[in-house]
Amino acid sequence: METLHSPKNHYVGVDVGGTKIQASLITGLGSVIANYRCDTPRDSSISNGSDNRDSNSSSSIRHRSVEMTLNAIEESIRILLREQNQPLNEIAGVGVAVPGVVQQETGLVVITPNMNLSGVELGQRMKDRLGVPVAIGNDCNLGTLGECWLGSGRNTSSCVGIFVGTGIGAGIVVENRILNGAGQAAGEIGHIISQIPCEHWRNNINAAKYKQNTKSAKNGLSELPRCGCGNYGCFETFASRTAIERFIREAVARGAKSVITDLNGGTLDIIKSGAIAKAIKANDKVVVPIVRYAAQVIGYACLTVRHLLDPEVIVLGGGVIEACQKFMMPIIDAVVANDQLPSAPGKRRILVSSLGDNAVVLGAVALVRSANGFNPLRKTHQIIPKYPQLHFMAEHVIHIADEPYSKDFFILSDGTIQPRLKLPKKNVHGFRLKDIRTVLSGGVDLIIFGSPHAGEITLSPKCHDYLLRRGIDYRILPLDKAVHLYNTVTVRRAAVWHFS
Ligand SMILES: [Zn+2]
Repeated sequence: METLHSPKNHYVGVDVGGTKIQASLITGLGSVIANYRCDTPRDSSISNGSDNRDSNSSSSIRHRSVEMTLNAIEESIRILLREQNQPLNEIAGVGVAVPGVVQQETGLVVITPNMNLSGVELGQRMKDRLGVPVAIGNDCNLGTLGECWLGSGRNTSSCVGIFVGTGIGAGIVVENRILNGAGQAAGEIGHIISQIPCEHWRNNINAAKYKQNTKSAKNGLSELPRCGCGNYGCFETFASRTAIERFIREAVARGAKSVITDLNGGTLDIIKSGAIAKAIKANDKVVVPIVRYAAQVIGYACLTVRHLLDPEVIVLGGGVIEACQKFMMPIIDAVVANDQLPSAPGKRRILVSSLGDNAVVLGAVALVRSANGFNPLRKTHQIIPKYPQLHFMAEHVIHIADEPYSKDFFILSDGTIQPRLKLPKKNVHGFRLKDIRTVLSGGVDLIIFGSPHAGEITLSPKCHDYLLRRGIDYRILPLDKAVHLYNTVTVRRAAVWHFS
């Protein structure tokens, strides 16, 4: 049995996606030690008996393809651990995230629309293969759980994560636990109907805008795009990357001039979030209004979430937000700020994901730790990192365990010390986003910048905005004051020490 100070304090988090599998070795503190990525087996797309041959052969094909996926998951874990010289029997647990409806308690995958794991007892099957505790959950739920443990949702009692990518996924965490719902389908915010698909809308409000399609005109739905889920008018049909791509393609097909095709490598088959961000930077006349609209829709999705659950924090993440946050967040803020529905004063914030690609694997680890009886979101089960005690010696020297430090270095959130090797050449007292990202990994409430040049240190507006958007506090202080603060605060902290 794991204890808080158990030697078995390493976990594996696995994010099983439709195209990639990521396995990560993670400490009980939440430090990601190593990642291993591989492709999800191609055969995964053969699914759910859709094969039209006789049922025996189709079920054997399905069996084979499920085994291939299970093998790939197991193999990714074994390779990761081998590369890190970490024996599997010293792992305290494995958390697995899958894109679909999952019964967390039993480990059954109810349905995975874009994969072949529907109906598979994934939890038990992986436990049999690995011989360690295994917990499984939905990827967006676990992404939110990860953000609540160590990201932008930390120290909150309620948090909703909304992840904007190919679709819009989401998760709800209340009182340190995922809200699964009676049918394990809570938190499908992307599928909240935002345009009511009724005839009145078609006939009176927006009839001119969309071409009538006689086939579905009968049910009054033709003017709304159909969502991947089968319904009409879902939030994700207006604001996901897929929706943004559709709007761009339609505009370009109508003959609108745009730089997006060139930025996206000469094709509009799949439009990457990075290309969309570049087009915004170039002030593209097609892309800018489309992404502005998508941001407004996401703003209204946040409002809807607030009116339903009123969470302390809504964390926005996913490829579209990561790439376009500078443009989108002020628009989202404006929609939310314009809410006319009164409420009691309280801490309610809309933040951006701090953990990026690691949110899901960290959430998977939080889940298996909870299943082991140690929910890392609960204050009593949190492991406090061992922070070094610093001693201010002189204006340009700090001692840590009698060791003098007089060159730039970081202290990460888990207390480890790392030299800051690459110093900026031009703005010598400036810090780059890369420096900030280095100290942020692993969950931080406060960053302390200590330096004899405290008065000259500048944090670029980009870095300041980055921290503000993630709810992270920072202080720039002279060395002696910074050392004192570092030694005495009780929150999760990181520090940047700047001498040169
Ligand atoms: Zn939908």
